[in-house]
Amino acid sequence: MSNSEDKDLRGKLDDEQFEVTQNAVTERAFTGKYVDHKADGTYRCVCCDTPLFSSEHKYDSGSGWPSFWLPMAGEAVRTIKDSSHGMIRFEVVCNNCDAHLGHVFEDGPQPTGLRYCINSASLDFKDET
Ligand SMILES: [Zn+2]
Repeated sequence: MSNSEDKDLRGKLDDEQFEVTQNAVTERAFTGKYVDHKADGTYRCVCCDTPLFSSEHKYDSGSGWPSFWLPMAGEAVRTIKDSSHGMIRFEVVCNNCDAHLGHVFEDGPQPTGLRYCINSASLDFKDET
């Protein structure tokens, strides 16, 4: 990332949003503003405003983080193998700007069986569908 982009994001994001999206820090469980958020609308990337997840696919996983069983159609997000912290996990990033969003696990509900475990700090909810 160039210095000018870094400066732009620092102005746009608060400290937690910056740490989560740029340094892949995980927010503490049950602290995020969207954990129990149930309104209808779209969750966009807090960095670049790309629509990433829909409230239609959000569910209560009990994990303490907003959880989705499907991302928005198309190439909104992509996954990267992450072997940090002594585990093999799959990191979920914004396909447009590479912001860190969270991780995806294979213990979600049907029909996908996937749980996209996403930091609230990576998301910006918009009341629209
Ligand atoms: Zn983005």
